[in-house]
Amino acid sequence: MVASIIVDISNSEVDRIFDYQIPVHFAVKCGDRVLVPFGNRTIEGYCINITETSDCGIELKCIVRKLDENPLILPEMLQLMKVMKEKFFIRHVDSLRLFIPSKLRGNKIKAQIKEYCSLKEDESYDDMVAKISTRAKAQLAVLARLKEGGEFLTVLSTEFSNSAISALVKAGIVIKQGMEVMRTPFKGLSSTNSLVELTDMQNDAVEKVFNSDKDVVLLHGVTGSGKTEVYLACIERMLKLGKTAIMLVPEISLTPQILRIFRGRFGDMVAMLHSGLSDGERYDEWRRIYDGDARIVVGARSAIFAPISNVGIIIIDEEHDSSYISESNPRYNTIDIARFRGEYNKCHTIIGSATPSVESYHKVNNNEYEIATMDKRISENGMPEVQIIDMAKEMRSGNFGLFSAELKASILDTIADGNQVMIFLNRRGYASYMQCKACGYIAKCTDCDVSLTYHHQDKLLKCHYCGKRFKPLTQCPECSSESIKQGKIGTERVVAEIKQLIGNDIGILRMDNDTTSTKTAYLDILGAFKEGEAKVLVGTQMIAKGHDFPDVTLVGVIDADMSLYFSDYRSSERTFQLITQVAGRCGRSFKKGRVLIQTYSPKHYLFSFIKNYDYKGFFSKEVNNRKVTSFPPFATIIRVLISSESEDKCVDYAKSIYTELKLIKTAAPEKFIYLQAMKSPVTRIQSKFRYQIVMRVNRDAELQLISDIHNILDEKKPRGVAAFVEINPQSMS
Ligand code: ADP
Ligand code: ZN
Ligand code: ZN
Repeated sequence: MVASIIVDISNSEVDRIFDYQIPVHFAVKCGDRVLVPFGNRTIEGYCINITETSDCGIELKCIVRKLDENPLILPEMLQLMKVMKEKFFIRHVDSLRLFIPSKLRGNKIKAQIKEYCSLKEDESYDDMVAKISTRAKAQLAVLARLKEGGEFLTVLSTEFSNSAISALVKAGIVIKQGMEVMRTPFKGLSSTNSLVELTDMQNDAVEKVFNSDKDVVLLHGVTGSGKTEVYLACIERMLKLGKTAIMLVPEISLTPQILRIFRGRFGDMVAMLHSGLSDGERYDEWRRIYDGDARIVVGARSAIFAPISNVGIIIIDEEHDSSYISESNPRYNTIDIARFRGEYNKCHTIIGSATPSVESYHKVNNNEYEIATMDKRISENGMPEVQIIDMAKEMRSGNFGLFSAELKASILDTIADGNQVMIFLNRRGYASYMQCKACGYIAKCTDCDVSLTYHHQDKLLKCHYCGKRFKPLTQCPECSSESIKQGKIGTERVVAEIKQLIGNDIGILRMDNDTTSTKTAYLDILGAFKEGEAKVLVGTQMIAKGHDFPDVTLVGVIDADMSLYFSDYRSSERTFQLITQVAGRCGRSFKKGRVLIQTYSPKHYLFSFIKNYDYKGFFSKEVNNRKVTSFPPFATIIRVLISSESEDKCVDYAKSIYTELKLIKTAAPEKFIYLQAMKSPVTRIQSKFRYQIVMRVNRDAELQLISDIHNILDEKKPRGVAAFVEINPQSMS
């Protein structure tokens, strides 16, 4: 028998699959990890196929040995690997990296073994005591302690003297042996267990899920409607049937909160997988799942690849979140993977959100997804009241600070009442824009109607869609004012201004990329806020999602326009989602909440939808815009990104691909709405030049074109150039 082995060479850019002979003295199954001879060394590989004979025509080398008892890649995952290759053009080696923790491959990590002490088993306790002198008080104390159960030496030696312990070991009464200690993420995290009775609305949602004949159910529930309990109920039902569950949250910062709830409900059955774990933790959690000890996997995006079988439900919370789409190699969309696993396991996938993505809701309207709606909060106070504040008016009245008079007064009132405040700074990434200080005008592209991004490097405004460049704004085209600002306010400045307002004695916490660089920082910040150590929490989009703080009664949004004019067709959608989410952080328990949104464009249609919590209104308008302008979900944006350290190679390769694509376009012009080659907006990253070919194509032509593009790329690719195909990219930088 012959095994097709994919050899695991790190950093390999191609799939290296070779045939090896399976020796007669041991069996190899698909998914097995094996050692194979390769050149003059032996390396690790994975068996992905078994055939009778090989057609490669040379004498085959033999597999050296099998590395594990059972296949590391489950049959389901082997099949997923094939699908990922065929449908999403992801190489097997890259899938492998997603499926199996890097440190497990190549045995770079070991189980953690610690010395463990316990009493000898074949002797009665009294007999043991009789062997020890009555004066050896310490030894007797150790015995009494171990009578209750074994203990790790590290713990025992903090309670008793080492001499007493070793005397007992020497006498053969206490047995010392190595025992594996599982490395558990957030081991000390307290768990919450609040058994609640589901409301009718929640029960209906659960029934809707299980009665659905569609594989995906969108749980559209306003913030605070109790979606988590619906997830828990669905999981509970599946566990009772002997099945397992996958629960995804959008951000690592949300995992401790969800872990608390899940451990409270399901205890040790919960495992967690995400990129923030240490190598040891990931290795141990992965094995707990693989071995079947953990039956619920909680995690961020990558947990969708957990080695869990017999899945009964997959849940993607905050489904609209962009983090579910992997934008670096390998590029994939989590929902696509979930749908494959759902189909394989014949189970439902729930995608939940208060602000579903336009794409998902469009699928509901097209009858592809089922929908379950929860339109009321659990709390009787209902949704917090939203007020839009015109900052241009504030400026005209002489207030040039960050806060409007109204927001300042409200912050002071809220603190005086003993409640908490969250101030949200709508700053995505570090892109900056140019804006007229007098009227609020933001520099826009003449062709695309998206705002321009200011590039410090070459001092130009650029359109991230068409590539057009403009001189920086010096005078406002609307009101002729020459006072132009470069927008980009930091959270630090917000904190400074709040300090001026409320003084130094009242605690203020800040949460952004700068303050959360260490592993537990976000946990510490959120914990301190929850405990009431600070009255104000200032943050970026990190604070927008998921958190449940009962004492927050005021949410302030600074510069709400910022993402509105961000150069992306999804700007309106993102702004609606972000502001609705952050507004949803307040008034969640028995206290009434209030939201103040500061903007320079108070008349923008989006704000009336936000104010009225009118998702459907927003959706109709947005989907109509997209239809008229031929943007997703009515067309597909494809970007081929080419990068190399050599600019000439980049240009040559881009040109040759572009030429081929133009040929396709000439033959079938109806497939294309737009096709253009250009430098990428960010022209160099990590000393690699970047060029791109951007196209917008008709949806019916999409699949064929993507496949054509991959063929063209493979055919023409010179050494030293990388090319990526992105579908509806989240960022065009
Ligand atoms: P969402 O995720 O929809 O924003 P959560 O799941 O965080 O909302 O629930 C909001 C709050 O309501 C939480 O504090 C939760 O404990 C509480 N809650 C949820 N369901 C119930 C219920 N059936 N009875 C009482 N309280 C509930
Ligand atoms: Zn102006
Ligand atoms: Zn443009």
